[in-house]
Amino acid sequence: MEKIKMYNREGDVYLVPVGTKKVPSTCYRCGGCGEYSYNQIDGTVCYGCNGSGKRLGKGYTEKQWQARQKREEAKRRKAEEASRKKEAERLEIRKANAPVDDRIIEVVELLMEGASSPSKSVRLLTDMLSRARTLSRPYTQKQKDLVEKIASDHLKLKEEGAKTSHVGEIGQRMERELTCKRVYEGTSHYGLFVILTLEDSEGNTFVYKGSKPLLAKDESAVITFTVKAHETFREVKQTIINRPKVK
Ligand SMILES: [Zn+2]
Repeated sequence: MEKIKMYNREGDVYLVPVGTKKVPSTCYRCGGCGEYSYNQIDGTVCYGCNGSGKRLGKGYTEKQWQARQKREEAKRRKAEEASRKKEAERLEIRKANAPVDDRIIEVVELLMEGASSPSKSVRLLTDMLSRARTLSRPYTQKQKDLVEKIASDHLKLKEEGAKTSHVGEIGQRMERELTCKRVYEGTSHYGLFVILTLEDSEGNTFVYKGSKPLLAKDESAVITFTVKAHETFREVKQTIINRPKVK
């Protein structure tokens, strides 16, 4: 019987009778080892090849094999070209992003100046930066605007904060007319508590944390109090008070 050379899809050559369509090739289910994950009927024996690791697959004549090789090569080259193009695009985006990256780092440094922990804005900016970097995504105009808004808001706050000052000496008993600007009510182990943010006529900020609901929002009164501490919150100098008494 006349025999011809035939290839399996992995390129192994078999000498087979003319007219043969299939030749053995590595079982794609088990990868040729003959075993597969356990099941009750076959145990660990691969049912794709009955454990032989080989099964009949499409055979290629010399001519078909050469054509297949050519097709595979073209496919490979196309994939390579695509990945090269993608890498070039990524580089381009990274280059275009660089000034914004730098600006974000600058603003984060500005925001972290004297801060003990990162604020919401800092986390937002660092998130934006790492996302743009890992995903190689260009910054949107909206993002760029947000960076500048955060920076200018911070500077404004800082400027306003620089104008504020602490009042009195720690431990000093004082009397002043205060207006309640903000009321926060909460509960702790000890029961209800309030945090009042108050202001005097010169715009100085006072904070009272305690159990006495001294004033309602926008209400004013002359109050006697003791200066407990001087703190700074978001650039604003706050005079913390205790033992308040409404006159
Ligand atoms: Zn198999």
